[in-house]
Amino acid sequence: FRYDSDWDTLTQKRGQWDMDIYDKEPTYDIIRAYVNDGGTPKGVLAALEHAGLLGMGGAGGRAYLKWSDVREAEGSEAKKYIVCNADESEPGTFKDREILLLTPHLTIEGMILAGMVVGAREGYLYIRHEYPEQIEKCRKEIERAKSIGALGRSIFGSRYQMELEVFPSPGGYICGEQTALIEAMEDKRAEPRNRPPELMTNGLHDQPTLLSNVETFAWVPAILKDRGDWFASQGRRDTVLAKGSGTDMKGKRLFSISGDVRLPGVYEVPTGITLGELIDDHCGGMRDGIGIAAVALSGPSGGLLPPKIPIEYLNERNLKERLPAGVREIDVRDLPLDIQVSRAIGYMLGAGIVVYGEGCDVLAEAVANSRFYRNESCGKCVPCRIGSQKITEMGERMLAGKVSIGELPVLSDLTMELSGVMQATSICGLGQVASNPLQSFLRFFPELARRACDRS
Ligand code: SF4
Repeated sequence: FRYDSDWDTLTQKRGQWDMDIYDKEPTYDIIRAYVNDGGTPKGVLAALEHAGLLGMGGAGGRAYLKWSDVREAEGSEAKKYIVCNADESEPGTFKDREILLLTPHLTIEGMILAGMVVGAREGYLYIRHEYPEQIEKCRKEIERAKSIGALGRSIFGSRYQMELEVFPSPGGYICGEQTALIEAMEDKRAEPRNRPPELMTNGLHDQPTLLSNVETFAWVPAILKDRGDWFASQGRRDTVLAKGSGTDMKGKRLFSISGDVRLPGVYEVPTGITLGELIDDHCGGMRDGIGIAAVALSGPSGGLLPPKIPIEYLNERNLKERLPAGVREIDVRDLPLDIQVSRAIGYMLGAGIVVYGEGCDVLAEAVANSRFYRNESCGKCVPCRIGSQKITEMGERMLAGKVSIGELPVLSDLTMELSGVMQATSICGLGQVASNPLQSFLRFFPELARRACDRS
């Protein structure tokens, strides 16, 4: 997409996000209060814990725990770093692009506060090179923050200091993987590292590094404004599938949604609203009133879900306890958009949702997604390098009508087996999810798979 007025109309405007605590020119009030009113790391960590802020980059870990780990880590030269991952490259995910365009000050303020809390004096905004407007916006905002004293040698006249810089990502999907990103920043080939050690202790230049997503940092000012009370009070906990799931479901978050909805865009919503609510209340429903053919709730990485999901493919025991007797299927529109609930029930949730309407060729989408992962594999480890190629070849054969109906069970078994190996043995997340598009197609769309084979 290019940024133009048409696209802007599809996205909530600045001022419509509760995340943005500034009506006018941002004044970095949270940093000001921290240095002038005796703010303490303990107080900030307690507010993040109370708010229940989770990492918004996909892993969904508790932010206060990561901040605490970096704070407690010992650097060999007592040097620590803050890194913001803005290398947003998952197909269908574009919320960070909007945050950095509309509210770069929030992410920058969150990073400065993080530096004060963990004891870092240098920070980097690692931004995807295909985001030139965001790179420029962030550079300008960093200069403006310096000019008002929010960054530099003495933040608002205090003993705290912090320098921030934009680091344009060298490119490629894998450059956004958190350890590959650190390799790229060290001027090495951007390939994922084996872990442990973790970045919290051995990150950039082998020093303790707090690496988080754009949105995670961006929520920090709104949370710190009232020690997390407002954020903690947000969230839909009353939907059928969320109730009794044992998760706290706090806060709001941004989703980018695209595909066959009437108004694709980026929306800030309470965590836990259902997919149906997001589509109907925010996106104006489905385009032309058509039905849903498939949904990717985590870009392609979580695979494709059907309109009705048989509960045997989810965490059946967990669900059975809460669903009326005899219910054997879950409507995809009823799934709560909350990462903790998604884990409890057994589906993957990210920040980029793609909705495919009736009439779409679901197999063609699954194969396109498989090709994407095959093409983006860095090739460092064999299961991903060879496995993603095999998966793509199987999908392409099916799409070309070259798989007979008799061969289908063999191909399905092979896909599941290969998928298991890739998940268990790939170094990074790419190899672990690369088979999901085809695997989910074979699992959830058996009728479409049979029809594809009938063509042979
Ligand atoms: Fe590279 Fe794939 Fe291995 Fe990740 S899983 S390190 S992308 S080859």
